[in-house]
Amino acid sequence: MARNLAPKCRQCRREGEKLFLKGEKCFSDKCAIERRNYPPGQHGQKKGRLSDYGVQLREKQKIRRIYGILEKQFRHIYKSADRAHGITGDNLLQSLESRLDNVAYLMGFGSSRAESRQIVRHNCILVNGKRVNIPAYHVKNGDIIEVTSKAKNQLRIKTALESANNRNFPAWIEMNIKEMKGVFKNKPERMDLSSSINESLVVELYSK
Ligand code: SF4
Repeated sequence: MARNLAPKCRQCRREGEKLFLKGEKCFSDKCAIERRNYPPGQHGQKKGRLSDYGVQLREKQKIRRIYGILEKQFRHIYKSADRAHGITGDNLLQSLESRLDNVAYLMGFGSSRAESRQIVRHNCILVNGKRVNIPAYHVKNGDIIEVTSKAKNQLRIKTALESANNRNFPAWIEMNIKEMKGVFKNKPERMDLSSSINESLVVELYSK
């Protein structure tokens, strides 16, 4: 399976904001954005104005990087969002938010989306009692997501869950920490999600 292997902190510096790609490090003062918030590379500190196209492109790249999606797959998700009823931008974000790897991350089973994806791939997650190892699997409202009994002893899962519990869970997730189990109550509304994302720029980009 193809993956984006680019250094994670460089991806954040490229986009000029924290994308939370590296688990606990992102919440510490070791975060590269806290130390060097300018684009990587020799000309990173030079100031230049982006064209409208450049702004749209950067926003699309940022969203792709947050959710760890490759270009082709992202375009496919966008097309489905465009075909569905409702506002395309909202559909796009809801579709990304309801991916199993993202939901596992929000439930604290992995310290980052990349780690959650690996946990899903390694057969550590059950959806409504059945093993699902497809990171792109779409979680539905009311689905119960839990860690398999064998994986419950994994230290990385326990540690990630403890940290997520300390930071609180999103309102659309209901967690039972002791049982390492959560309910995806409903898809988040746009106002529940980060205001630093501007999905309308992606719609403008792909509508050209
Ligand atoms: Fe991004 Fe996390 Fe690296 Fe900070 S530590 S730059 S948020 S990946």
